[in-house]
Amino acid sequence: MASGTHGVEGFAGSAIQTGLLRDGLAARLDANQRGVMIHAVNPYGFAHLRRVNEDNVDLNRNFVDHSQPYPPNPEYNKLAHIIAPENYSALDSIASLIRLLVHRAVRGEAALQAAITRGQYAHPQGLFFGGHCETWSNRTIRSIARAHLSAAARVAFVDFHTGLGRYGEGEIIVSAAKASPAFVRALSWWGERTKSTKAQESVSADLAGTIELAIADMAPHREVTAAFLEFGTLSPIPVFRAMQAENWLHHHGGAANPRHDCIKAALRRAFYPGADGWKTRIWAQAREVVEQALAGLSE
Ligand SMILES: [Zn+2]
Repeated sequence: MASGTHGVEGFAGSAIQTGLLRDGLAARLDANQRGVMIHAVNPYGFAHLRRVNEDNVDLNRNFVDHSQPYPPNPEYNKLAHIIAPENYSALDSIASLIRLLVHRAVRGEAALQAAITRGQYAHPQGLFFGGHCETWSNRTIRSIARAHLSAAARVAFVDFHTGLGRYGEGEIIVSAAKASPAFVRALSWWGERTKSTKAQESVSADLAGTIELAIADMAPHREVTAAFLEFGTLSPIPVFRAMQAENWLHHHGGAANPRHDCIKAALRRAFYPGADGWKTRIWAQAREVVEQALAGLSE
């Protein structure tokens, strides 16, 4: 399992991983089972309160074949200057929001979400930029996978995320189609909280270049059940505006900007609300998901 793929989301993911260790997870593994915890795999983003890495790359869009043409995202290209504006006064931020809301009214919420979030490879200072080479975190995950997956016949992989969905509710997100063995297996392990991005039933759009898809590729000829466990925080508009403001701060506002601390605090709150009730709910669900995965692997 992995945490902190999206830097600032590491507060929740790290807490879940350390909680599982304190809870005695390692002692409950069978003699023929191995647990691998990849902790804070995007350390720059976690340390600097960014969702992306040191190169402004969304690690969870970086697992594409960089020798091939990148997945196109013409809808993002059209909206790029509105999604990631260079000026971000109070007036600019409202103007951006109004233009995106108009776009949503015309094209629909799912289309706008897909355009913004599914990944883009043409705007290095934009949001959800997938990068132009394998990042350090990507290479690190691959080397960990090489070291640990070769001996495994069956693999379960859960990557912890926050920021999408209803407050405190966890969703198992799988990129495989609903008819695929991987999805059917995930559904039998995790039940109705399991959703496919291919069926437009998930809180997530169908994404390019994700870790979860890459893990399956890294372990060919093995049974791989890979998923994201995504926990809802705030509603989509405040989460998006927190990311938009922080992206502007990083590229244009600067560390000395008087709004720096306020913008960083808003980003942290958007991905880690921190209320005790939210923490209790996500811990209980994460623990259950991991127990279900262990039971599934033992079948
Ligand atoms: Zn995430």
